[in-house]
Amino acid sequence: MGICLKTVDYSETSQVVYFLTRDAGVVNLMAKGTKRPKSKSGGAIDLLAEGQVVFSQKNPETLGLLMEFSETVSRTPLRRDARRLNVSLYMIELIGKMLPEGDPHPSVFDLLHNALERLGQNDAPPQAVLAFFQWRFLRHIGLLGQLNTCASCQANICEIPPDAGLYFSSQQGGILCPHCHAPTNEKFRITPPCLAGIGALLTVTKGQKATLPETQAVEVNRLLGYHITHQLGRPLKMTKYVISTGTRE
Ligand SMILES: [Zn+2]
Repeated sequence: MGICLKTVDYSETSQVVYFLTRDAGVVNLMAKGTKRPKSKSGGAIDLLAEGQVVFSQKNPETLGLLMEFSETVSRTPLRRDARRLNVSLYMIELIGKMLPEGDPHPSVFDLLHNALERLGQNDAPPQAVLAFFQWRFLRHIGLLGQLNTCASCQANICEIPPDAGLYFSSQQGGILCPHCHAPTNEKFRITPPCLAGIGALLTVTKGQKATLPETQAVEVNRLLGYHITHQLGRPLKMTKYVISTGTRE
């Protein structure tokens, strides 16, 4: 199974398609003739398309050849809603930028598949789906950072009042307490709703139930979006459509 992360037009009739496959990770494939309306794929392969991918690739560093693609999942409900669609496009861009090619990550495939399924449901809150997705993805690739104790002095964050002045430093890989953040310029202010959202996500990570209200999800996404931008050295193309730039303190 594979989900289309990125496409590049190659010629009148062909595309280069990046798929996240469940078993082989990200693969980069020449899709010959897919843009013909009568092709087996039924026309050009779209972003987010998911289905059975048959391909041949000599080694992960070279362009492989797509032999067959049959879409098995309809993303129509998701494509009809700009907010849901934008969140989905952000997720595939993030994976495309952060996962190396040819390195299998079945749990990331499942994470993306489940998040896209959820976003296709009318009752799903897009920002909460995104917060869970970013959280789990960053944790999987080891970039989530330290969020329950101060990254510098190890003070327990739970014991610090939420309005005492907490920051997150992408470079230092975690939260900095009111005593430790002063010397650091690269930092992001953690608002009380953001801290509450982090608490909810930590609870869920432990396998316990917690709810993540949209206001908290928006703040958590701002934080994780900041972290990702810092790690990549620039924002993702979709960041401005998906991550709130709010300056609420
Ligand atoms: Zn500290």
